[in-house]
Amino acid sequence: MNVLFRLISRDDDRAQIAGRGWSVTLARMNPLRQIVALLLLGVAAAVAAEAPKKVLVVSVTTGFRHSSIPTGEKVLGQLAAQSGLFTVDFVRQPEGMTGAPGRPRVGPKGEQDPAYQKALQKFEVDQKAYTEIWLPKAAAGLAKLSPASLKHYDAVLFLSTTGDLPLPDKQGFIDWIAAGHAFIGVHAAADTFHPFPPFIAMLGGEFKTHGAQVSVECLNQDPAHAACGPLPAKWTMFDEIYQFKNFERPKVHGLLTLDRHPNDKTPGDYPVAWCKNFGGGRVFYTSLGHREDVWDPAHAEKGGRKNPASDAELFQKHLVGGILWALGLAPGSAKP
Ligand SMILES: [Zn+2]
Repeated sequence: MNVLFRLISRDDDRAQIAGRGWSVTLARMNPLRQIVALLLLGVAAAVAAEAPKKVLVVSVTTGFRHSSIPTGEKVLGQLAAQSGLFTVDFVRQPEGMTGAPGRPRVGPKGEQDPAYQKALQKFEVDQKAYTEIWLPKAAAGLAKLSPASLKHYDAVLFLSTTGDLPLPDKQGFIDWIAAGHAFIGVHAAADTFHPFPPFIAMLGGEFKTHGAQVSVECLNQDPAHAACGPLPAKWTMFDEIYQFKNFERPKVHGLLTLDRHPNDKTPGDYPVAWCKNFGGGRVFYTSLGHREDVWDPAHAEKGGRKNPASDAELFQKHLVGGILWALGLAPGSAKP
């Protein structure tokens, strides 16, 4: 599709591709090229219609669990159905599973403090249950990410996953992406696999910290990219805004960034969304998506929404554009 897009959109021709059916505006294109473009797009649409791509959505967490995950799952299902170009399958959290228990800290009264000893005992019981009951349950679901099972999918999407997930073969998963498949990360996907550098290298950045939720002006770095085409040049969003480590601007293709720190407003480069090639595969990441009202135009918030419905609709377009790009179904550069 990228090749097709380049074929029909060179020179000053304007081609806009939006949603199912590849509705294309062929303004200022000469008649012969219009016919060629429509034929090519017709063939591409027919091929796509025959075989929707398969996206595996993973929302397992061993660390912090976002309340917006069920909303995200619902919206991804809707976006798949609306586009008709991909289907979604899920690996969800085992019911009742919480985050990994945290070891209690030694207080000023030292290790012999009865309160500390009691907390330590509880931690050891919880830790045993977590290791022996919950992690194996999570691992059973995550068996869908084994190299053998991944043959059934075109893309894996990490929906605000956190922590060190018990995958059957972590390196095998990374190799599968590099072998020509797609990875899409949303929000806390960057807060996953901190102790596993190949994942961080694949993603192109690692969650470092965030401040209070805040209104920011996201700068659209590439309006020609499917993930940014529907967005304004400056897009104001209210969300929890991540800062990153192990992010190298020259290794990614920027999609959204801030030109000042989200909270203290120090000038700089604060990436929000990017994409990249990874071996023969494609990676799209957006750090937005903490809040329910970022995802869902219909979400009713106590005390009122912070993002109008129109911005949730834009987020959905941003996300579906990124997914389709990662699947090779929508245009966009990955050049750093
Ligand atoms: Zn968050």
